[in-house]
Amino acid sequence: MEIVNAESILISIPFDAGGIPPWSFGGEPKCAFDTLFVRIETVSGIVGWGELFSRNEDTTLKDMMDKRVLPLLIGQDATQIGKIKFDLEFQLQNFGRIGPIVYGISAIDTALWDIKGKLAGCPLVDLLGGRFADEVEVYASLLRYGNINDVTKITREVIEKGYRYIKLHEITLPEIYAAVDAAGNEAKIMLDVNCPWSISEALHYDKKLEAANLLWLEEPVWPPEHYKGLAQLRATGRHPIAAGENAGSMHDFVSMIEAGAIDIAQPDIAKTGGVTELVKIAALCEAHGIQFVPHCAIFGPGQVATIHLNAALRSVPLLERLYCNFEAELYGGATLPKAGFVKVPKGPGLGIEPDSDVINRYRIK
Ligand SMILES: [Mg+2]
Repeated sequence: MEIVNAESILISIPFDAGGIPPWSFGGEPKCAFDTLFVRIETVSGIVGWGELFSRNEDTTLKDMMDKRVLPLLIGQDATQIGKIKFDLEFQLQNFGRIGPIVYGISAIDTALWDIKGKLAGCPLVDLLGGRFADEVEVYASLLRYGNINDVTKITREVIEKGYRYIKLHEITLPEIYAAVDAAGNEAKIMLDVNCPWSISEALHYDKKLEAANLLWLEEPVWPPEHYKGLAQLRATGRHPIAAGENAGSMHDFVSMIEAGAIDIAQPDIAKTGGVTELVKIAALCEAHGIQFVPHCAIFGPGQVATIHLNAALRSVPLLERLYCNFEAELYGGATLPKAGFVKVPKGPGLGIEPDSDVINRYRIK
């Protein structure tokens, strides 16, 4: 099944988060998130969709895909997913084992699984062994508000919408405890601080946060690959430690587990090698008694693939979804949680197709 066309498509859709604009990602803080699609087409006209992690209308990342990575696919057999993934990783190893090149390979891998499912006439979840659930519970991953009013208001809002799990991105104690108090016994709270602290600072907050009774504490130390530091924090026993969204492959999780760094592994399907790599990481975690809860801060094919993957695992992981209302929905609302759950698509491959009108309207040239 020869690949005859491979392109990337960058779109950026504005959203309303109900508060101040979130992170800058090295650019201007902005209420818009990217979806950087990979679209792969076979000689028979079957199209597969994948997604790489992207922020800030990143046309350089798109350029890298168009000029450096996607041309390598032309003429390849789309059904040979493992070999294509390995060949790309091997040929491009000098340009990064973590970061943009791997994001690109992740997107390609997901698109090839989409094609595989369409050829087989079955949804991705069935290719992965079948479903343990028809719908997946979602946790509301709140943006960072940095003020008590907004974080309290949004915490109550998501509970009223039916969410039972909420992740905060606050980094200051008054805001964190305001959300914990607002949730009471109605929702479990996780805290993701995105790697801000030295070990001594993290140990300070570790104590200060004890009364918050967090379900997990995510990426507390800088840099993200400081696994010994994470292990030092985990050894206090005050919080389960979650990390992994900045990992590049299964081998990074081997290192994390060997260091005793994590209770919860969070690989990202659009950053860590796609469906193929996440299946391996899930098995690794199962063997070591580590919880597997993929990171998911994307809204395109990567998010859809994560829904399928989560549904295929016996201990169905919670699905992360950043809490924001987009001006337009890529999948006509099919990926929007209802009462805290999202349905697993039933069509072949990823099961749903992105809306071409939305793509054309928000496309970045
Ligand atoms: Mg995180």
